[in-house]
Amino acid sequence: MKKVVIENAVVIKRDRLNGDCRSLTIGNFPKSRLLKPGQFVHIRIPGPDVYFRRAFSVYDINPRAKSLQVIFKIVGRGTALLAELRKGDRLNVMGPLGKGFDFPFLRDKVILIAGGIGMPPIYFLAKKLIESKYDRRKILFFYGGKTKKELVNMAHIRKLGIKLYPTTDNGSYGFRGFVTKAVREFLNTETGQFRIYACGPQAMLRAVEEIARKYSIPGQISVEAPMPCGMGICQGCVLPLVSGGYTRVCRDGPVYQFGEVLL
Ligand SMILES: Cc1cc2nc3c(=O)[nH]c(=O)nc-3n(C[C@H](O)[C@H](O)[C@H](O)COP(=O)(O)OP(=O)(O)OC[C@H]3O[C@@H](n4cnc5c(N)ncnc54)[C@H](O)[C@@H]3O)c2cc1C
Repeated sequence: MKKVVIENAVVIKRDRLNGDCRSLTIGNFPKSRLLKPGQFVHIRIPGPDVYFRRAFSVYDINPRAKSLQVIFKIVGRGTALLAELRKGDRLNVMGPLGKGFDFPFLRDKVILIAGGIGMPPIYFLAKKLIESKYDRRKILFFYGGKTKKELVNMAHIRKLGIKLYPTTDNGSYGFRGFVTKAVREFLNTETGQFRIYACGPQAMLRAVEEIARKYSIPGQISVEAPMPCGMGICQGCVLPLVSGGYTRVCRDGPVYQFGEVLL
């Protein structure tokens, strides 16, 4: 797909979510209709002191309004500056970038696993599956955070009419323990043909792949890597492949099959 840089995208809405999470709705992005679950945009951070763009998975799109929405957690300088943006501020946004998720077979039961700020691409996938007439009763959304504060926009997920399994490491909300523990317990009692999609911290993705191996379930993960150029040139985002060699997350990913990248 042809790469596009929109220099005069504009913030049309900003929201403070739980904890350090923020939402930005970005308008004047005519290609928003082309954005697929798992793909990302590369945003130039306003101001002179952050040189490289930052990547953000797409959380939602509104093709009619030519807008897209991202959700981010303030972790460093780049996201702190993004959090200061106001409605009407201009943004330089590059996208659509990366490879998105493959859709499951209609007969599959779909297990979605989101850890912390890995939630945006998983939510977007759930929404697109439902728009594509997948049976919402077969979509199961496991969403884990350290505490309740880390779980955002659960009302949006519930609105999709799918089964939501919230988990928190400290038990402050939903199932107590890692999100992957909840998935294991679920799979110990359920049968069927499953497919798993996951995004979250690397340790979580490793545990997801272990589960997938144990239960012989196919699926995909979306991974993060520091990503200076986003265009496959700088090699800053390379990850080792299980089969040997390296992959550029920005060009070949961020979505990979289970067992493809060395986590
Ligand atoms: C394909 C892709 C999709 C992404 N999607 C999202 C998304 O939807 N939402 C989102 O919030 N972020 C997402 N990220 C991460 C995002 O691009 C930034 O790297 C991250 O938000 C940190 O940016 P920063 O400038 O604030 O921090 P930096 O200034 O780069 O880092 C400051 C400090 O924060 C630590 N740090 C950096 N990244 C993280 C992290 N992800 N978690 C915890 N600590 C970190 C660093 O170790 C450093 O010490 C994605 C990354 C990729 C590659």
